[in-house]
Amino acid sequence: MTLRIAEIFGPTIQGEGALIGEPTVFVRAGGCDYRCSWCDSLHAVDSANRHDWAKMSAEEVFDQVCTLSGGKPLTVSISGGNPAIQDFAPVITLGQAAGYRFACETQGSIAKPWFGALDTLVLSPKPPSSGEVVDWEAFDNCLIAAQSCEQVVMKIVIFDDIDYAWAKATAARYPDLPLYLQPGNAEVDPDLPVDLQAATDRLLWLIEKVTADQWYAPRVLPQLHVLVWGNKRGV
Ligand code: SF4
Repeated sequence: MTLRIAEIFGPTIQGEGALIGEPTVFVRAGGCDYRCSWCDSLHAVDSANRHDWAKMSAEEVFDQVCTLSGGKPLTVSISGGNPAIQDFAPVITLGQAAGYRFACETQGSIAKPWFGALDTLVLSPKPPSSGEVVDWEAFDNCLIAAQSCEQVVMKIVIFDDIDYAWAKATAARYPDLPLYLQPGNAEVDPDLPVDLQAATDRLLWLIEKVTADQWYAPRVLPQLHVLVWGNKRGV
């Protein structure tokens, strides 16, 4: 069995959500069942790029992780695309036997048994601005599959007032899931510099919304890697 891998890179730091700042090697899976209007990872989504995705065995993926990390265990973040399309169980088994920890981020559209073996599962349901519609039954199945996962959290990207209202309704639906909010970034061209003032303004807008609402449950975070590296890939 081979995995379709768009890129493996690092070590760098996790730039988002519950593990923000944590040293990480990223394994980015190729392929996604969504096509969000503002996707910042189209190189791992658009099937036009599939010829650039490597076909790798679990052993080859883990060897690459070991090479990048110098053989020193750290957190491996499995992202995409939607990594839940594929079977990452053998990579997780190999890595955990060597002391590596595993996190995975997915939109929650496909449940996989290997979610239960993860150290962290980040479920990131997509708000209305994405143009996608969440299948809540599939999302609930992801939560069931992740029952033995050490940490399950929810992350929602917010672009506008409609997304914000949707995030509040979603949070009310899952009151027990730790929630991370992040302002959306529509500047996704890796070749263009990011407007840092605009990024700061978007963060400030979201902070002010949450505090004005006295909504104290979520943590509001920037995309740290965008502030440091812009939209450059592989960092
Ligand atoms: S789910 Fe994620 S990877 Fe897939 S299209 Fe949406 S933003 Fe891109």
